[in-house]
Amino acid sequence: MSSQTDTGAGLRAGLDNALAHLRTNADAHMQRLDDFLRIESVSADPTRRDEVRRAAEWVAGWLREMGVDDVALHETTSHPIVTGAWLGAGADAPTVLVYCHYDVQPPDPLDEWVRPPFEPRYENDIVYARGAGDDKGQLVMHLAAAEAWLRGAGGAPVNLRFFFEGDEEVGSEPVERFIADHPELLEADLCVVSDSDMADDDSTPAVTYGLRGIAYLEVKVRGSQQDLHSGQYGGGVDNPANVLVDMLASMVDDEGRVTVPGFYDRVRDLTDDERAAYAEQPWDEAAELDRIGAPAWGEGERGYTVLERMSARPTFDINGLWGGYSGEGAKTIIPAWAAAKFSTRLVPDQDYREIESLLKEHLESIAPPTVRVEVRVIHGGAPAITPLDHPGVKLASEALEAAFGKAPLFHRSGGSVPVVAALDAQLGLKSVLIGFASPNGNFHAPNEWMPLWNVRDGIEAIVRTWERFGSVSPADLRG
Ligand SMILES: [Zn+2]
Repeated sequence: MSSQTDTGAGLRAGLDNALAHLRTNADAHMQRLDDFLRIESVSADPTRRDEVRRAAEWVAGWLREMGVDDVALHETTSHPIVTGAWLGAGADAPTVLVYCHYDVQPPDPLDEWVRPPFEPRYENDIVYARGAGDDKGQLVMHLAAAEAWLRGAGGAPVNLRFFFEGDEEVGSEPVERFIADHPELLEADLCVVSDSDMADDDSTPAVTYGLRGIAYLEVKVRGSQQDLHSGQYGGGVDNPANVLVDMLASMVDDEGRVTVPGFYDRVRDLTDDERAAYAEQPWDEAAELDRIGAPAWGEGERGYTVLERMSARPTFDINGLWGGYSGEGAKTIIPAWAAAKFSTRLVPDQDYREIESLLKEHLESIAPPTVRVEVRVIHGGAPAITPLDHPGVKLASEALEAAFGKAPLFHRSGGSVPVVAALDAQLGLKSVLIGFASPNGNFHAPNEWMPLWNVRDGIEAIVRTWERFGSVSPADLRG
């Protein structure tokens, strides 16, 4: 019992020291952020390869400086992956894997930037620069928080492993392979990902606990060997374009539900707690509609709100449709073939490989005997979820509330983060996504910005998260 008390007191003293370190080093951390934002780590741009590497080396350099062990740049088919570990908390303490990315989107169009994208501009306690929010600002916050524990308190209450990639903005291709090849470098009880945003610009934090997956396919419907004269054969043969459109239209019923048998079998229903959390989101349907410029929201799957449908329910969408004649004037043909690309966004616990087969079989089964149909899988990705009542979500929420003075909101994201699904699928490692960028922060657009008050409070939130995580056993943090 006494050892438990000691641990509690030790944790509190450690936290005080780490927070004191943050205060003393606030300016130094801002300077680090400024330095890092000046590196032009555009992963999509082959002429900036050296800059991307320089960003990886910058990260590795700071990790080494603060006393993280085994810091390494791992070569991949693309840009390097940076890892490192500080395991000084011992085997009885949980181990956390920290993931961020150090690459950024291309800055074009350049003439829309008030200042050049890699020359940070400061105004009203906001920094404007490419990568300020997505994701270099957040990576710096994690390094500052780690430094506060390692340098300010002489050690962290959890073991820390770092996993930083430079290919997130171009699809994270090397990541899956790296996870398969180096599970020992990623061994942890929970992964914390910071590459998302806050609930608003008024210091309301957010925890993202679910991500959708995807199944992306292409279908081609063939009729005759070549295009036919529609005056001659129209009414005789089936038109492949008509058939394709009919088939695709039948994929969603009048209730907005996908008609493929078995499609919903593994869909995890929203819990009452989740629906209550959705209802609390400060999300303005009308404002969002205005922003995207559509005349009205669709009816979608009945029984769910727009926000629920966009993040916690599966979808079917045609992504492209072509065939026949689309040039100038008229050409009276029955096309020989027509094709479409389509995708379904998937939710936990749908299995994208199973869904791919179901979609393929279904399309083949509904095609009339007057055409031949070919269905091809383009790519797939798994959905991911860390339940709301997972201890990692609860503990991180306490830390966020302590740092920002407000309880976080919880949501699922409609998109995917490849690394989260890959860690779950390959290592059974769950992730909690705590993001600090502004939801309006011009990610991927000119004049990307990041509130500096989020940076300051966010670093403190990370420091406090490690303290909360350190108060439980590894098994408890695993959930
Ligand atoms: Zn990002």
